[in-house]
Amino acid sequence: MRSIVTGGAGFIGSHLTELLLEQGDEVVALDDLSTGRLENLNRAVRHPHFIFVEGDIRDTALVDRVVDGADRVFHLAAAVGVRIIVDHPLESLRTNIHGTESVLEACRRHSVALLLASTSEIYGKNTADALSEDADRILGSPLKSRWTYAAAKGIDEAFAHAYWQQFDLPVTIVRLFNTVGPRQTGRYGMVVPNLVGQALRGEPLTVYGDGRQTRCFSYVHDIVPAMVRLQEEPRSVGRAFNLGGSFEVSILDLAERIVQLLDSPSRIELVPYERAYGPGYEDMRRRVPDNTLSRELVGFAPTTTLDEIIRAVAQDRASRMATQIGASGL
Ligand code: UDP
Repeated sequence: MRSIVTGGAGFIGSHLTELLLEQGDEVVALDDLSTGRLENLNRAVRHPHFIFVEGDIRDTALVDRVVDGADRVFHLAAAVGVRIIVDHPLESLRTNIHGTESVLEACRRHSVALLLASTSEIYGKNTADALSEDADRILGSPLKSRWTYAAAKGIDEAFAHAYWQQFDLPVTIVRLFNTVGPRQTGRYGMVVPNLVGQALRGEPLTVYGDGRQTRCFSYVHDIVPAMVRLQEEPRSVGRAFNLGGSFEVSILDLAERIVQLLDSPSRIELVPYERAYGPGYEDMRRRVPDNTLSRELVGFAPTTTLDEIIRAVAQDRASRMATQIGASGL
């Protein structure tokens, strides 16, 4: 089985690459290294069935060559992270829309099945008790760059679905809810590595807004196997599946737990959104997945607790700090 992982040098992509190699696949990781890091692939590069290709998913000729002869594509490459979305909305739009179309088109030409990594962001400001896959999208103004990611990923899903509908391309969509774990960087905004890095350095933990917004964090080693199982399940074709954690926590409680668990001298500082992300920033107040579909189809049942996630991220951050890898972006 030859699998392609776009975004293979990224946080989730590198864990997925390792799992596929362990399963016996030959894996080609395609990444432009804009946010991905080669050191994430330190384990994979030692494997005889691993190939790394550096390149942009908007390069249609390159993507076509990479996809030719493959059995399946896991499409994870994306401009992601609130920092990038807010500061570089064009990257968010171009990479996420044009890049995905280029990958889909190559899959169509070579009849290769595709799993699209989408996001809980597409639900926008919907604060339902549990967001099922058919929940309404409530997005803010398209003139606020904050919404470019949610808008682009929504178009990606529509594109993928249309390729399935019109060309019978086997496409499966997963919507990831705040996936966390080793190798994730805090550089682009992601809250857990950011707060853990601050706690380890003894700096104030920056909690944006009133800190009462909630998320359901999930551990990368719970999510990645479910992505593979969904891709391999024929009944997933043409459908979308939530993959998220089952425990809802406010960001303020998260920060307090991090300080406590890591025995950190840091204090917690409430930072107005405006100071963090500029004027007019709108946050999602709440984001809770309904995982029923993925549980029923492939037995998805995340088991890693928030404490275990925090400890794993802290261990990873601490070892990076020790070896000075990416020290500025902890
Ligand atoms: N957040 C925070 N401090 C930080 C980074 C993020 O309070 O240093 C908040 C952010 O405003 C949001 C939540 O944590 O309410 C999750 O942010 P993240 O960027 O990780 O993910 P997303 O907003 O996509 O859920």
